[in-house]
Amino acid sequence: MSDLGKEYRIAGVTVRKVQEQYLHNVPPSFLYPDAGSEEIKAVEPRLSAVDMEEGRDALVVSIHSWLVRTPDHVILIDTSSGNDKERPRNPSFHQQTIPFLDRLRQAGVGPEDVDFVINTHLHVDHSGWNTVLEDGRWIPTFKNARYIFPRAEQEYYSSTASHNDVNIPSSGVYEDSVRPVIEAGLADFIDSAGGPFLDRFTFLPTPGHSIGHMSVLLESDNEAAIFAGDVMHHPIQVERPDLNTVFCEFLDQAGQSRRRVLELAADNRAIYFSTHFPGSSAGYVTRDGEKFRWSYV
Ligand SMILES: [Zn+2]
Repeated sequence: MSDLGKEYRIAGVTVRKVQEQYLHNVPPSFLYPDAGSEEIKAVEPRLSAVDMEEGRDALVVSIHSWLVRTPDHVILIDTSSGNDKERPRNPSFHQQTIPFLDRLRQAGVGPEDVDFVINTHLHVDHSGWNTVLEDGRWIPTFKNARYIFPRAEQEYYSSTASHNDVNIPSSGVYEDSVRPVIEAGLADFIDSAGGPFLDRFTFLPTPGHSIGHMSVLLESDNEAAIFAGDVMHHPIQVERPDLNTVFCEFLDQAGQSRRRVLELAADNRAIYFSTHFPGSSAGYVTRDGEKFRWSYV
């Protein structure tokens, strides 16, 4: 059976999800520690069957990458959590053996075919496949690619004093999934202001979830799409943009970026390619008075 998601054609490119894994039975109270169970219950009737487990009391979360093919380039946006990584404090991502690269090949792309790898930010589930373990060393998975990292993320997570500490859950990510890419000379950095990329993309600063979190806007032929990384983790946040997740680091900014992206997606009728929504993981945001609504496509 193919693990490939459907192929979207938009703005002169094709977009396809490459699934890494699903996280099941995620308690809403874990993901959204500030939301009471009554608040989640109030949103639940508008969530899709795919958004929750059958009992409707726990969430499903997806981990995946987006494969974008333009007429000229092959681009991978975010690289999931990777294989063989040492994440003892993070069992969902510890010592995995997932056939992610086989799934990429099923989509017609070998690692050597990828021209650009974009990390929206440098968290554990967005940088993992940047590298693979070969003869005991971490080496870049995509040898012919330029890797694009937000500069503020690189500066922040490379600081051993505060953010590459062995005691935090994302520890080790920079050392095994980012530093080897930089040392191989394959990394380029986007400044905090964002800006245009290739001929139809724009890096859009969406800080908050992490310090230099960057979304990617795609626009061409009067069509638009947005790859917004961890601006949201679950459709619950379309209904409740004020809710941050347990993983958000700069809470006020995270809320501002979330609202900005929701407005942008709704007002431009942009397809929203999420990094953690389950199901197809893609859809439209629409306005309903002061509120936003979500529908999968
Ligand atoms: Zn994430």
